[in-house]
Amino acid sequence: MREMTHIAAWVVASGIVAELLGYLLHRLLHSGRIRWLSASHMKHHMVLYGPLQKQRPSEHYMDATTDRFSIGNIGVEWLAPTAVLLVLAETIFWAFRVRLVHQAVFFATVLAWSFVMFSYLHDRMHVKNFWMERNPILKGWFRRGRQLHDIHHRMLNDGGLMDKNFGIGFFLFDRLFGTLSPEQSSFNHHGYAAARERFEYLETPRAR
Ligand SMILES: [Zn+2]
Ligand SMILES: [Zn+2]
Ligand SMILES: [Zn+2]
Repeated sequence: MREMTHIAAWVVASGIVAELLGYLLHRLLHSGRIRWLSASHMKHHMVLYGPLQKQRPSEHYMDATTDRFSIGNIGVEWLAPTAVLLVLAETIFWAFRVRLVHQAVFFATVLAWSFVMFSYLHDRMHVKNFWMERNPILKGWFRRGRQLHDIHHRMLNDGGLMDKNFGIGFFLFDRLFGTLSPEQSSFNHHGYAAARERFEYLETPRAR
């Protein structure tokens, strides 16, 4: 019984770690600091589901990773940081002699959580008629998250960066770091012009 409590605590802590890492990575992708890492995500934001485009044009998701290295539709922008995380976490676990079963719980939770939230759930926020929007238990939560994600797509700062609502299903770290925006302010056309200039390279990725 004590071991079950132990494992439950590891699952919860690992979920929070996954949320934090996802939040930080999402912010990094939007900063444009590492161009090759940001390419797919910013194509999602600037070309496929742009700030003035429909966020749910059809029942099919438009994949931004098609012409790049990816596993399924999970692009290099998630795979590379995941590899870094695995090595880093393993080093820490090894140094602190964390038991193998706890390590396994950690990795399984972080990977499953990240996949469900940042890949599955996110992509479903861009398709029409997803079952969750009608599910009596989940619809309130799902619709609220989707609304905040629409705002994430539409709000730009004057530098041309999207800087609100980096969470997908949960917004704990947006709250903590002050990036939560529950309402959409009037559209920043000046910021959008700056964004189009900044991410111009996405339109013609091969011509560079
Ligand atoms: Zn234990
Ligand atoms: Zn984003
Ligand atoms: Zn999106």
